[in-house]
Amino acid sequence: MAEIIPLNGSNAPSQSAPCKLHPQSMCPAFGSLRILTRIEGSHPVMATDTGCLYGLTFVTHFYGASKSIVAPTLGTAELMSGQVVEGTRAAIDVAAKEPGAKLIPVVSLCVAETAGMPEELLPRKVGDAEVVLVRVPAYAIHSHPEAKDIAVAALLNRLAEREGAVNEKSVVLLGEVFPADPLAIDAVLRRMGVSETIFLPGRSLEDFRRAGRAGALAPLHPFYKESMNVARTWGMPVVGGAPVGITGTAAWLKSVGNALKLNPELVQQVIDEEREKAQAIVTARPLSGRVLVTGYEGTELAYARMLVEAGAEVPYVSTSIGQDPLVLPDELWLKAHGTKEVVYRKALEEDVSALDRYQPDLVFGTTPFASVAKERGIPAMYFTNQLASRPFFLSSGMTATIDFVAGVLTKSDRYRWMQEFFAE
Ligand code: SF4
Repeated sequence: MAEIIPLNGSNAPSQSAPCKLHPQSMCPAFGSLRILTRIEGSHPVMATDTGCLYGLTFVTHFYGASKSIVAPTLGTAELMSGQVVEGTRAAIDVAAKEPGAKLIPVVSLCVAETAGMPEELLPRKVGDAEVVLVRVPAYAIHSHPEAKDIAVAALLNRLAEREGAVNEKSVVLLGEVFPADPLAIDAVLRRMGVSETIFLPGRSLEDFRRAGRAGALAPLHPFYKESMNVARTWGMPVVGGAPVGITGTAAWLKSVGNALKLNPELVQQVIDEEREKAQAIVTARPLSGRVLVTGYEGTELAYARMLVEAGAEVPYVSTSIGQDPLVLPDELWLKAHGTKEVVYRKALEEDVSALDRYQPDLVFGTTPFASVAKERGIPAMYFTNQLASRPFFLSSGMTATIDFVAGVLTKSDRYRWMQEFFAE
């Protein structure tokens, strides 16, 4: 006889510990869909039920996709009648008729019937359009940054051209970054002897093809592990870390130099120049104050590291991505420089509890967490819109980020005034 466990019994979820199984962020599939809809000639098909389709279509258009997502009607009746593959194939045919269609990503989501869609029953190509299945169910892919990785890996697997000579002095850089960052990174790498940089994910399908013949792959964000695995199966060197802050930039430039076998003296010269510029920025505008860095973008540890190098105290960092060897160097660095807690797959309750413990001067967080801080009169900003939306990499990125943070740290009087105003 089956054991019946009461909901309030000892095996029931704890009231105090937040549930880590369900991410407290937007639907993870949004991350992949955002990348896939932006590619020129891409006409995504989404295989899921009507509720998910409504929400994801809305969010995708909010981010300026300017194209329709084609989807089969999958309500309860269609799911029960087993018409999922047929409906999806029909949607692919419709998407392939769009003028200039070159890519049809088929995004399958949480619904069990679509998550298990057999790839071999879908066409590989219709007309000129490649059909690529991208599986991003939220019970397996726990955050929207990690869903971006799944989409990039699927496209690299299918599209990257491995025939022909490798361009040994070229590098693929992975990560959605502020538009000025690729220009700055490209300029610095070319001074070291790099012949070409390919930034993914962008608007060009051709970039995914060229990526297969690059000399190395460098994920700028620490959640591109599936894409890294693709590169490793090709035997392509992978460069960890990112050109962030003083020490992070120096280590990253050196790693790129080693991976592409560039002239070590020239590489060192560029490292020294960048270090000098970065040090000058920190010396001219050192930060002072206690900052909590929390968000759901997966880049929070790197931001925290830059702020600590600039003089801020960052006792607590949280992120929606999971723990991974890619983030470990930043975690170790932060813990060696005063950070007490680094929380992965974070929940709002954990961030709020940190607010009680650390009494910060400034908070970067999700919208609900920033609201909690503001209610207490603490300067608080939405991480994604305020911090992750400006240049970040190399010394040029440091200037933009540190100037902004230094400015916000002077605003505590205004936040206290606001709190008093609304309390009256
Ligand atoms: S795909 Fe999953 S997480 Fe996304 S909206 Fe649908 S049910 Fe929610």
